This record gives sequence, C-alpha cells and structure tokens, in this order.
Amino acid sequence: MRDNPWKRAQAQLHSAASHLKLPGALVERLENPDRMLEVSVPVEMDDGRTETFHGYRVQHNNIRGPYKGGIRYHPKVDMDEVKALAFWMTVKNAVVDVPFGGAKGGITVDPKKLSEGELERLTRSFTQEIAPAIGPKLDVPAPDVNTNPKIMQWIREEYSKIAGKDTPAVVTGKPIEHGGSEGRVEATGLGGFYVLAQVLNLSGRKGRGLSVAIQGFGNVGSHLAECLKDAGFRIVAVSDSKGGLYVPKGIKDLKAVAQCKERSGKLAGCYCVGSVCDLSNMETLGGRDISPEEVLTLPADIVAPAALENAITKENASAIEASIVLEMANGPTTREADKILNARHVLVIPDVLANSGGVAVSYFEWHQNMHGDVWKKEEVFAKLKEKMDAASRAVYDASKEYNVPLRDAAYIVALKRLSLQ
Ligand code: GLU
Repeated sequence: MRDNPWKRAQAQLHSAASHLKLPGALVERLENPDRMLEVSVPVEMDDGRTETFHGYRVQHNNIRGPYKGGIRYHPKVDMDEVKALAFWMTVKNAVVDVPFGGAKGGITVDPKKLSEGELERLTRSFTQEIAPAIGPKLDVPAPDVNTNPKIMQWIREEYSKIAGKDTPAVVTGKPIEHGGSEGRVEATGLGGFYVLAQVLNLSGRKGRGLSVAIQGFGNVGSHLAECLKDAGFRIVAVSDSKGGLYVPKGIKDLKAVAQCKERSGKLAGCYCVGSVCDLSNMETLGGRDISPEEVLTLPADIVAPAALENAITKENASAIEASIVLEMANGPTTREADKILNARHVLVIPDVLANSGGVAVSYFEWHQNMHGDVWKKEEVFAKLKEKMDAASRAVYDASKEYNVPLRDAAYIVALKRLSLQ
C-alpha cells in the first residue's frame, strides 16, 4: 500500500512536538490546513474536445507570512499528497527562516502527454480558478515537479490580467528576463550542496572523494550533481524515471550526460566520452545500466533521492549501503524506512532542510520584485549560503541538544520559531 504522506506529516509533527512544551492551540492549528481548494480545470485540447482536470491548492498556514509553495503537475497528485507537501513547506520555510507560511498546489495530469499549447491553456485555466486565493501578500506559488519558469510566467500573466495590473511578485521561479531571480534555477541543488558540506563539517567528516548516487536528474538532481562534482565528490550513479547509469570510477562529464538526456529523452545509455554518448562507451568507462530503484542501494557513501515521495521504504531501507541520505525530494523516506535508517545509524539529512535552497531563493526573488531590485548571481549565492549554513547549524545544534535525529531536530527548530510568532 502507498504510504500516506499526510499521515506521515502528522506523525512527524507529533514526534517533534513531544520534545517541546507548545501551546495546544498551535499544535491543533498545524494539524489542519487553514484552507483547501479543489478546483475543476477545463482545458480545450488540440483536437477541439474540452477535458477537465483536477487541481488543488492547499494553504497550510500563514503564521510566519504569506502562504508559499510550489505547484506540481503529475498523474499521482491528490489532496492528501498536496496537504502533506503544504505542511512540509510550513516547516521548511521556518527552518530556512524566510517570512512565509506553507502552501502547495498541483494538477493531476501527465504533462508529458500534453502539447505546449495544451500545457499553457491548462496553466492559465488553473490560474483563473485559484486567482482569488493567491497574491503577492497572500499566497505565492512557485515551480515544483514538472513545472518550470515558463509555466510560472504564464501564471504571472494570467493573474496580472485578472488583477488589472502587472504583478510579478505573485509567483516565483519566473524566467530571469521576466523578473525571475538569478540563481533560482540552481538554488535547490546548490542549497543541498551547502547543507551537506555544513553537516559534514559540523560532524567532523571530510567531503572530498566521497561517492554519491543520485536518484532523479531533473532540475534538482542535475544541479546537485554539478555542485558536488565541482567540490571533489565522485558522482557514481544517476537515474531518472526510466533508468540510469552506474559508473564506479565516477561520471566525468555531467554536462554531456545532461545534453544526452535532453536529446534522447532518457538517461539510460548516456555513457559519454567527450561529447560522444553511446552504449559503446559503457565498457571503456566500466559502467552498467541500472533501474531507478537500484540507484538507492548501490555502494556509495551518500545517496540523494531527488525525485518523488516514498522512494525509500521498509522494503529497501535495509539495503541502503550509504552512510548519509541527502533528501533532495520532498518526503522521499517513509516513516518505517526512517526508523530503519536511524536504527542503522544512517545520517538522514531531511528534506525540509536539504531542499530548502529553492524556497530561500524564491524569497529573494519575491523580495527583489516587491522592492524593484535586481541582485547579481554572486550576491544571491552568497545570501543563499548564509541562509543554508545558518539553517544547518540550527538543526545540527538542536539534534545535539535534544539528542534526536536531524529530522526531529528540524521540526523542533521550526516549531519553536512558529511558536514565537
Ligand atoms: N517547490 C519547491 C519546494 O518544494 C519550491 C517552493 C517555492 O519556491 O516556493 O521547496
């Protein structure tokens, strides 16, 4: 049975709350989202039919500021998933200390089956449905799984039409030429790297030379891989939803691999030597093909699930060989798997810390839009590093103070900040 992410979110909340003396009203408020919108999204398809999709926007709470969180397009999106993701945004935004509450949205759709025109009409139709509930000081969407800067720009345009004035700050993750922030595209992967580096440092471990296997090679996974490789880590495996490659000596040219995936639509077979990527290079590189699941249990020092929820379950948790799990996806580890990993002393760097670089730079984008500023990339990265270092330290210190795993520690940091408002 699929692990219900909303039930898991509740269990995580209660586990952390048990370490603190919190006002009952706060815990009760966090147990339920402030508002849940479920909308029908009619779309005119290319063949002239009108198809109706289901869309969601959950506003978990705005204790610390406007609701904030991404929008995902995926066939498995449902209300419980969006509720959990919205709750995790509340926690994440408090951990990384941006002045936002938590929200999430989604549409149950396989966007890969839509034409560009259908995708645009879907996005505009969804924006019309949720427009009364969003706004720069109310609720600010952003990209998530299968959504991107172009889609964010359609949201901004559609919302601006309805609002009667151009409103760039209604959404973050826009293209740079349309009010997006420098560094937003790299932010989640780079932020994950900063967190890992800081946690390794605080726990007295060395990073250079450690091997890493990454599940998911979208925006997050591919940028994480680049940053880690530049810092001297060895990327031994990468995978996408169709499969991947395992090269124990380390994948040298990640850019060529990314281009190969772009061209062929999949990672499998992207054995690149120079700019030539094909199967005949497999032997030269000493590599082999792997499945999207196998990537998690390969011999590697660090494994980074950067795809979807429920990647690490009680079925495969015992088989994980890595001593560190860097959760770049939201909710990749089920509750039972978490227990198994903790019992085996695997260091789990939780999603609400590890992937919070994305929303940190979303905050920078929103701030620039609100103040008519434009920051340079170096400035954005320096500010991002500061935020990630501070969040990592706060979580690490709480784990020592309360003698709990980093996930509970992150929730403790967040709950304390939420209770101060
Ligand atoms: N979807 C991203 C996340 O899960 C980013 C959210 C945002 O930037 O608002 O953190």
